[in-house]
Amino acid sequence: MSNQNRVAVIGAGISGLCTAYWLQKNGFEVQVFEQSAHAGGVIVSKQTDGFLLDLGPNSTLETSEVLSELVEELNLGSQKVYANEASSKRYIVKNGKLTPIPMSLLSFLKTPLFSWPAKLRLLQEPFRKPTLGDDISLADFVQHRLGREFLDYAINPFVAGVYAGDPRSLSTAAGFPKLYALEKNYGSLIRGAILGARERKKRKEVAKDRAKMFSFRNGMQTFTDALKERINTIEYHTTARRLQKKDGQFELEIEGTEGKKTLEFNQVVCCVPTFALAPLLTDIDPQQAEPIAAVHYPSVAVVYTAFKEADIQRELDGFGFLIPEVEKRDILGSIWSSVLFPNRAPEGCVAFTSFVGGTRQPENARLPDDELEALVVRELRSLVGISGGPVFVRIKKWERAIPQYKVGYKKIQAIFDKLEAQHTGLYFAGNYRRGISVGDSVLSAHEAVEKILGR
Ligand SMILES: Cc1cc2nc3c(=O)[nH]c(=O)nc-3n(C[C@H](O)[C@H](O)[C@H](O)COP(=O)(O)OP(=O)(O)OC[C@H]3O[C@@H](n4cnc5c(N)ncnc54)[C@H](O)[C@@H]3O)c2cc1C
Repeated sequence: MSNQNRVAVIGAGISGLCTAYWLQKNGFEVQVFEQSAHAGGVIVSKQTDGFLLDLGPNSTLETSEVLSELVEELNLGSQKVYANEASSKRYIVKNGKLTPIPMSLLSFLKTPLFSWPAKLRLLQEPFRKPTLGDDISLADFVQHRLGREFLDYAINPFVAGVYAGDPRSLSTAAGFPKLYALEKNYGSLIRGAILGARERKKRKEVAKDRAKMFSFRNGMQTFTDALKERINTIEYHTTARRLQKKDGQFELEIEGTEGKKTLEFNQVVCCVPTFALAPLLTDIDPQQAEPIAAVHYPSVAVVYTAFKEADIQRELDGFGFLIPEVEKRDILGSIWSSVLFPNRAPEGCVAFTSFVGGTRQPENARLPDDELEALVVRELRSLVGISGGPVFVRIKKWERAIPQYKVGYKKIQAIFDKLEAQHTGLYFAGNYRRGISVGDSVLSAHEAVEKILGR
C-alpha cells in the first residue's frame, strides 16, 4: 500500500471535519474515524418542542478569512445569523445585581462596576513596568497592569465565560497571546490598543476584537453537518486505539462495531482531545505522551431553560451576564439565547443557556439533573427576576469540556511542533493547538492541511 495521498483523520469534531474536507478537495483519499455516532464533536444543536438549543458552542467570532470563506464555500451564507445588536450590551454581576459593562470612556467613568481608586489605577496602566518572565499567569499579569478590581470584576468572569477557567492558573502567553503581545510590543495594553488600532487603520485591516459574532439559523451544527455531508468516508462508532510507525508508514489500530483491525496510512492527522491523543502516542513517543495526558479539561454543565416571557421581570436587553468568583454564586453565567439569535424559542417564551462548573466549581457540573435545574432556576430568579417555573429544560454535562492552557502550556504546544518535525506524515489539529474557539480549531485544521500540501 503506497498511495501517498491516503490520509487518516482521527476525530470528527470541527477540526477533523475541516481537515478531511480540505484534504479531499485537494485530491486526497481521506478516511475519518469517529468514536461516537455524531459528527461535530462538542458542536451539538437540537430542535425540540419549538426550541432550538446549542449544547456546546452557541456562536463563534468571524475572526479569520479562512473561516468566512469556508462558510461561503459551503453555501451557508444565507443561513448565517449575526448576533442581535442588543447583544453588544453585556452584564457582570456585582453585589448581586446585573451591572452593564461600560462600552465608552464616559460610561467607564460612571460605572459602579469599579471603585474610583480602581479606575485611577487602570488609567496608570501605560506607566507600569512590563511584567517579568515569559510565562506568567493571567491573574498576575492583569493584577500588575490593571489592578485587583479589574482582575476580579472583568477578567475573572470573562475567563469563566470563555475557558470555564481560572485566571490564576491560565498562561497569559499561551492562552491570551494578543494581550501578551500588546505588552511585549508596546510596553502597555492601553498604548498598544490605541497604536495598534491606528496601524490597522493604515493597513485597512479590521480589528480582531471587532469581529462579528455569528451562528446559523438552525444552530451551530449547521456548520459541521454541511462539512459532514461533503466528506466521503466517515466511520462512526470507530475508536482509534493505537498508532505505530513502521518503515515510514503509520499503522493505525481501530476498534469498531466489528472488532479491531489495523490499517496503514502514509499520513495521519490527529484531531482528538489531548486525553484521547496521549494513549495514541505511547508507541510513537511515550515521554511526550505523559505531559499531553496531563492537560486539564474541567467539567461543565450546559443548562438550557425557557420561561414564559410574561414571567420575566426585567427587559432582556443584552447578551447575558457573567459572574465574578468573588460574588460566590453557583453558576458561571448565562446567555440570553433567544435575544441573541432568532428562532431559539417559540413566540411568548424566552430561553437562557447557563453554564455551571468549570475549574471554579467542578462539583456543581456533576450534580444530578434535578439539582442542577433547581440551582440554575434559583440563580436566574434571583439575578434576572423570574416569577414562574421553567416551561422547558435540557441539560448537557460535558465531563471534560475545554483544555486549560495553564502556565507552562507553551511547552505542550512545542511538543506538537516537535512531534510533527520528527515524524514525517504525522499532524495535529484541534482546540489544544492555537486557541480553544471554533474559529481557532478551524485555523488549526487549515494549518495542518497547508503543511500536508507543503505550503
Ligand atoms: C460547553 C462548551 C461551550 C463552548 N462555547 C464556545 C463558543 O461559544 N464559541 C466558541 O468559539 N467555542 C466554544 N467552545 C469551544 C469549541 O466549541 C471547541 O473548542 C471546538 O469545537 C473543539 O473542536 P475539536 O474538533 O478540536 O474537538 P472536539 O469537538 O472535542 O472533537 C473531537 C472528536 O474526536 C472524537 N474522538 C475522541 N477520541 C477518539 C478516538 N480515540 N478515536 C476516534 N474519535 C475520537 C470525539 O468523539 C469528537 O467527536 C465551547 C466548548 C464547550 C465544550
